[in-house]
Amino acid sequence: MSDFRIETKCVQGGYTPGNGEPRQIPIIQSTTFKYETSEDMGKLFDLEASGYFYSRLQNPTCDTVAAKIAALEGGTAAMLLSSGQAASFFSIFNLASCGDHVVSSSSIYGGTYNLFAVTMKRMGIEFTFVSPDCTEDELNAAFRPNTKAVFGETIANPALTVLDIEKFAKAAHAHGVPLIIDNTFATPVNCRPFEWGADIVTHSTTKYMDGHGAAVGGCIVDSGKFDWFAHADKFPGLTTPDDSYHGVTYAERFGLEGAFITKATAQLMRDFGAVQSPQSAFYLNLGLESLHVRMARHCENGLAVAQYLESNAKIAWVNYPSLPSSKYYELAQKYLPNGSCGVVSFGVKGGRTAAETFMKHLRVAAIETHVADARTCCLHPASATHRQMNDEELLAAGVPSDLVRFSCGIESKEDLIADIEQALSHV
Ligand SMILES: *Cc1c(COP(=O)(O)O)cnc(C)c1O
Repeated sequence: MSDFRIETKCVQGGYTPGNGEPRQIPIIQSTTFKYETSEDMGKLFDLEASGYFYSRLQNPTCDTVAAKIAALEGGTAAMLLSSGQAASFFSIFNLASCGDHVVSSSSIYGGTYNLFAVTMKRMGIEFTFVSPDCTEDELNAAFRPNTKAVFGETIANPALTVLDIEKFAKAAHAHGVPLIIDNTFATPVNCRPFEWGADIVTHSTTKYMDGHGAAVGGCIVDSGKFDWFAHADKFPGLTTPDDSYHGVTYAERFGLEGAFITKATAQLMRDFGAVQSPQSAFYLNLGLESLHVRMARHCENGLAVAQYLESNAKIAWVNYPSLPSSKYYELAQKYLPNGSCGVVSFGVKGGRTAAETFMKHLRVAAIETHVADARTCCLHPASATHRQMNDEELLAAGVPSDLVRFSCGIESKEDLIADIEQALSHV
């Protein structure tokens, strides 16, 4: 499958049925798996043999879909998780523990920011947030001797900043740590961060990968390229024996290609249990089969809507990375030459009240907290997710009170634009 193009991998990756086997991936709806002898099972618990024993750690349906996502990203191993939040948490906690430090872009999903700045801080892991637009010197200055990883988003939700992945990878590697990229908004169809030096990729599969608003999920993919032994003192969890598995050393036993995901499965999934159900993995796979077709349409609609908004006198400003007027246009051309995503943000002249009036009159676009769905949806953060903040606080958070986040679905772009036009006529 690895020599095929991404479109073919979307449809057929991860699963090759044998003679007479189901064409669609089987849903293995079973918590547990049967063995003939206790010795057989013991080998699984010692990580000496691979196989399934309990779906809290691994399930064949989930592994099939994870293998497809690994193929799409060009990675060596992957795992599914219950949500994007779980994926972000595991990706860091698999490397850093109490007393450690992580450098993160400040332009990241709000839920991830809270996880890092509040919850993981309570666990003793400190984060330094740097602007995605910082200079190399500013970025290098953020590192400490106990830094264990660097984190950023290809296209940030909701700020739509585009990360200079090569710049962040260079700094991470100069300090002997991996770069973790949340690739949710771009998807591997539009950007494969491993090709630009990233080491680990995470996803909220809830968004474009599922694409139908059907199942919450997450994924972590390893490139297999980061040399844990070259920085053995920083990553004892991968390079020294794990007492909870009779002294297995992950990077030794599973190689660079398998160590990260095996450790995250064997330790973190065992202890935290943030699994994806096989049923959800099946829905996710249905979404992945059309990801390449949908992404092209999301981007076509996003660009058309952004261009229309830019030409409309009732609109104060438009933010869309693939617009030539965007501050991120050059980076988008480099990392996202085939298109960025379907999400456009903009301000309606007249501020908060005008934004609310506009949204109330939309008929195709629905008001939802969700994004990256086949159906167009939109949100006014100032009156929803960020409603506890006053106008000054909103500005400081990069979410002005007139901001509308508009997630273009895969409907007709003419209908989307006509809908926006009629809703604006009420403003
Ligand atoms: C939604 C989102 C998350 C969190 O994912 P959930 O599946 O909602 O837990 C993380 N990162 C990005 C970029 C997101 O858009």
